[in-house]
Amino acid sequence: MKKVLFIGGSSFSGSTMLDMMLANSPDGFSVGEIQALFRPYRPHHFSPVCGCGNPECDLWKKVLASGEKRLYQTIFNEFPEISFIVDSSKNPWWINRQTSLLEQQGIMVYHLLIYKEPGDFAHSMVKRGRKTWKRAWKNYYRLYLSLIENFIPVPYKDLAQKPAETISSICLSCGLEFHQDREKFWEKQHHTLFGNDSAKIHLYSEKNKNYHVASSRLPHQDTVEGRHQSIYYDNKIFEKLPDDVKQEITADRQLQQMRSFFSGEKASKERNAIVYNPFQLNLNKFINSSELLAGRTLGRFFRLL
Ligand SMILES: [Zn+2]
Repeated sequence: MKKVLFIGGSSFSGSTMLDMMLANSPDGFSVGEIQALFRPYRPHHFSPVCGCGNPECDLWKKVLASGEKRLYQTIFNEFPEISFIVDSSKNPWWINRQTSLLEQQGIMVYHLLIYKEPGDFAHSMVKRGRKTWKRAWKNYYRLYLSLIENFIPVPYKDLAQKPAETISSICLSCGLEFHQDREKFWEKQHHTLFGNDSAKIHLYSEKNKNYHVASSRLPHQDTVEGRHQSIYYDNKIFEKLPDDVKQEITADRQLQQMRSFFSGEKASKERNAIVYNPFQLNLNKFINSSELLAGRTLGRFFRLL
């Protein structure tokens, strides 16, 4: 039976890396953040560059032309050797909608949710000058938990510290065969769309010199493995945070509830305290559609400039 694995997670949570690690198998395929191909909302979404680095690659043109409803089917037809697709679009509304379509088509769906601890996430955001980290973290995961019933939690910390073990356990849960070195995602040429540039930098190799992101932002290490090792996990991040950020984390009861829910420490009744009520959910749906519409309009405008 064909399968689609959906990866959820806030921004900077390692979803692109997880996507390519799982798809690093002859029977796997990474589509990256494919939602943006059909629902572009940023200027670069309007001229998609394929992750394989080949400027002649017309895969996404074909996929776009055959339409959103047949999206995964088109890829399965195009690559008969694959049995599963990994989609790291992350948007819970997209995952929710695609899941119902796939279930009607008899394709099996799995949901994975990658997350950073609030302290780690705050660190990633604050260093990029984004102060609204807490709202971003809570809003994303509350929406995800409101829309997606069953999922496999994937702590970013585990993926960074023990990638092989983490990937092997996900494979087991999703009925995929695990093979050695699967976490070395740069060993395969992926067609991954959009997603995180620093994860995709690792796709750069002697064979794939044209890779557009890597060519301008290549780190200085000598080997591909050396570059990969720059994705590390710092156990002492929390202690390094500014005091007001630490305070914000420890004082927020809902944030703590959500953390313990992910780590499985609390029973599922806790979920009710986290999820949106129907009014909040409808409001969120409206905001999400408006943002997509505004993004599409602005994106077209910027493209014309
Ligand atoms: Zn390609």
